[in-house]
Amino acid sequence: MANKLKQGTRCTICKSKGQNNKAVVYLPHHRLALCKPHYIEWFEKRTQKTIKEFKMFKPDEKILVAVSGGKDSLALWNALTKLGYEADGFYIDLGIGEYSEESKQLSIDFANRIGRKLHIVPMKEKIAPIPTIKESTKRPACSACGTVKRYYMNKIAKDLGYSVIATGHNLDDEVATLFGNTLGWDINYLKRQYPVLEEENGFVRKVKPLCKITEKESALYSFFNDIEYIEYECPFSEGASSIEYKELWSKIEEQSPGSKLRFYSEFLKKMHPILNTENEKIGHSEIKKCLICGEPSYNDICSVCKLKEKVKSKTAKA
Ligand code: SF4
Ligand code: ZN
Repeated sequence: MANKLKQGTRCTICKSKGQNNKAVVYLPHHRLALCKPHYIEWFEKRTQKTIKEFKMFKPDEKILVAVSGGKDSLALWNALTKLGYEADGFYIDLGIGEYSEESKQLSIDFANRIGRKLHIVPMKEKIAPIPTIKESTKRPACSACGTVKRYYMNKIAKDLGYSVIATGHNLDDEVATLFGNTLGWDINYLKRQYPVLEEENGFVRKVKPLCKITEKESALYSFFNDIEYIEYECPFSEGASSIEYKELWSKIEEQSPGSKLRFYSEFLKKMHPILNTENEKIGHSEIKKCLICGEPSYNDICSVCKLKEKVKSKTAKA
């Protein structure tokens, strides 16, 4: 992105106002060259536009931001706060060694910087650290991790009165997921791939305000705002197919700027409505209440209560 900026290019917005500031970033698929303040403004306006486009939440709603300590979630939290929203953070301490320690500290520091609350849920107190869960259940770390994140995020939001959960998924994440689901024509997952999942049957509304912003754009926004974030990936992410898909899409984007946004936006506009009307019955299963914890579940006992049982029986035997 930035390497395509020709030396001496002026900021498009400054130029239109008769000013002469140098651009520091070039966004090829938007055909915009911007100076630092106008880039920050562009990012926040784009976030706001996405919130409005998908009717994600109203100005007076209480928002819980899922914070991982990474660039996207902190950029989102920063932008929402600057846009005037009541947004607090939620951090789940997964207990993944140094990765969790560092990302937790960065999240705490950031919460202090913007003066907002950060709710921390420690996995080692709730069930066990993720590496222990992985060992006890013989399940891949990411599958257990996804389950506990979804569960506690939803439970804490309900318990503390937040009406909406915002996550930092960016355009690259959405494109990689959409691509993976398309490869397998996974209708049930494709149906759920939308920037807003409405509140239903004990699930709080979930939104993705950065879904039209690329990973590079959010990294740049964090950099320009001096946001310190964890720069390395979780050790369990190695070999994930989403990383390969992202690399593939970076090549496509380089050849043809705007491809990612087109692939995703056109899916939302043209394909998603068809999936939701024509195939209403596909994959429809009834949501019940877990007999142990009372949280929403597709089975009598929810996945987290099952995890708890497995870990308990394994550690009792050990
Ligand atoms: Fe959890 Fe897997 Fe992400 Fe690590 S890579 S934080 S284990 S989902
Ligand atoms: Zn349960």
